[in-house]
Amino acid sequence: MAVLQQGCSASIARSLRPHISMTAAAAIASPPMVVPMLRKTDSRFLIGMSESELRQLALDYGQKSYRGKQLHDLLYKTRAKEIQDFSHLPQVFREELREAGWRVGRSPIHRAVTASDGTVKILIRLEDNRLIEAVGIPVEDDKGSFRLTACVSSQVGCPLRCSFCATGKGGYSRNLLRHEIVEQVMAIEEIFKHRVTNVVFMGMGEPMLNLKSVLEAHRCLNKDIQIGQRMMTISTVGVPNTIKMLASHKLQSTLAVSLHAPNQKIREEIIPSAKSYPLDAIMHDCKEYFLETGRRVSFEYTLLAGTNDAVEHAIELAELLHCYSRGSHVNLIPFNPIDGSEYRRPYKKAVLAFAAALEDKKITVTVRQTRGLDASAACGQLRNDFQKSPLLEVPTTESQLSPL
Ligand code: SF4
Repeated sequence: MAVLQQGCSASIARSLRPHISMTAAAAIASPPMVVPMLRKTDSRFLIGMSESELRQLALDYGQKSYRGKQLHDLLYKTRAKEIQDFSHLPQVFREELREAGWRVGRSPIHRAVTASDGTVKILIRLEDNRLIEAVGIPVEDDKGSFRLTACVSSQVGCPLRCSFCATGKGGYSRNLLRHEIVEQVMAIEEIFKHRVTNVVFMGMGEPMLNLKSVLEAHRCLNKDIQIGQRMMTISTVGVPNTIKMLASHKLQSTLAVSLHAPNQKIREEIIPSAKSYPLDAIMHDCKEYFLETGRRVSFEYTLLAGTNDAVEHAIELAELLHCYSRGSHVNLIPFNPIDGSEYRRPYKKAVLAFAAALEDKKITVTVRQTRGLDASAACGQLRNDFQKSPLLEVPTTESQLSPL
């Protein structure tokens, strides 16, 4: 589900390096070529690869290891989008990479819309013409410090079909590859001309159903794009056995569990997949996650008018959280209306009463401000609007990125 406001803060010392326009290719004599044995897999995308993998790639092609470091700079600093733009590298190396089917792994922006609060939603057109959403959320606090949160998708669509979610209603196509996750952050940095300070895996899809790519993208964002682990949040609505799996990686990032209900009965009404993962089992796994990683789990709760937003629901939620841990934090998200939804947005009075009831029970609460409501409302809605009509064949240029 879409993030509307991320609670983390970060001071921004980094600035996005300007694109370096490169001059003619350096004509450097290459050592005798060694034909590398590459597997026919989807791994021929350079984005997502670490510096050591890129150094090995250079060696595989008979180049010196430092060419791998140059590749790393070209990908993550210069932000070259095509192999032909790698003018620092010998022509022969570039040709060999291209002939072997290597690609950078950057996709065009199909559409971008800007909300009045500065939130930008982008639709990225993937190689197979599928569309994914990513959101850039700029926030300047009272002290003038600026942060830019990227809300990224991990799947094309989502198979879990939570009843309030536009992405769930749009169906599921496939998991994203690691470069398709990383490039969302890069695209947002390029649109805002500013480094992304926070990343939330809260866009389209359930990250735990694509944990391998999510972890690989997380590594790349941390090590190659240099976003601190503590500035990243991985969310889940709950997939059996995956919280334990994630805990074993001992990340310093936040795990956000989307509860959306204080008891199993309401949860099953809102989240059909909850039948296979009872609330008690999730809460037990969250407790184990904390013991394993030392990182507290935060809980997301979408308030749906008349369904889960009464004060008694807040009291029941507080009791549930106290059973499993002390010092829980809940992010309350007033529901964003979506087309064809049976749910309504809660009244402000109900939201405040719910928050107060939790605080009375010593649960800390953040009420997320609604961000980008006019930029096609909830997560998945922008993509659904476009996916209904045939995809355009014409490449999108910067001038087509239209503010609404
Ligand atoms: S898991 Fe997230 S993206 Fe998937 S249907 Fe539920 S809320 Fe939507």
